[in-house]
Amino acid sequence: MISVAIDGPSGAGKSSLAKRLAKELGYVYVDTGAMYRAIGLYVLRAGLNPGDCQQVESVLNQIQIELRYQDGAQRVLLCGEDVSEAIRQEQVGMATSALAAYPSVRAFLLDLQRNMAKSHNVLMDGRDIGTVILPNATLKIFLTASATARAKRRLLELEQKGEQATFETVLKDIEQRDEQDMNRKEAPLRRAEDAVLVDTSDLDFEQSFTALRDLILQRVAQGQAKEE
Ligand code: C5P
Repeated sequence: MISVAIDGPSGAGKSSLAKRLAKELGYVYVDTGAMYRAIGLYVLRAGLNPGDCQQVESVLNQIQIELRYQDGAQRVLLCGEDVSEAIRQEQVGMATSALAAYPSVRAFLLDLQRNMAKSHNVLMDGRDIGTVILPNATLKIFLTASATARAKRRLLELEQKGEQATFETVLKDIEQRDEQDMNRKEAPLRRAEDAVLVDTSDLDFEQSFTALRDLILQRVAQGQAKEE
């Protein structure tokens, strides 16, 4: 099986690039952030405090997460309900970043993520895919961009959705999430030693896409050459 791990901070373009790459290469796209977000949504809906580890742990056994693929697009089911859109709200992202720091939450999702890579060629994006989930991935990519570039993109996305926000608040959110994701004890966001670093600050979508596609195809070809 081929597995490509794409890690990096929020807003570096991981999911839109991974989605398009998966489609082009015929791999399954696994958005691990969506799994964490489903837990965040559950906790918020239950009126619990995402910053309280015990409260979050007390409901983990009630949570069922499933990824389904419809017309090539990933749908996230939370206890049977399609929450693919609901998990994208800003406050869900923030709550998720807080509870993703708990070892019990990460352990809860570990097998689900690893199992997907056992049965399919996958392109998996997240924060610890190359370091923890798939240490033997065919290729590891660390995708990043400056906080300013990421905030500009995020603001554009929000505007397109008709949501109101200012550059300053979006930038602050991004910086706060980076801080939380990089400084947590458990599986912090960091580049695996053998990951290829791709900085998309000055690349547009097509340029980033081509760069990643070429990296993947090259690595797969090298692997095939070795086998022959
Ligand atoms: O990638 P996305 O922004 O959807 O992820 C939401 C949050 O989930 C991140 O801020 C991060 O805290 C957490 N996450 C994680 N490990 C992953 C994927 C996401 O900790 N593999």
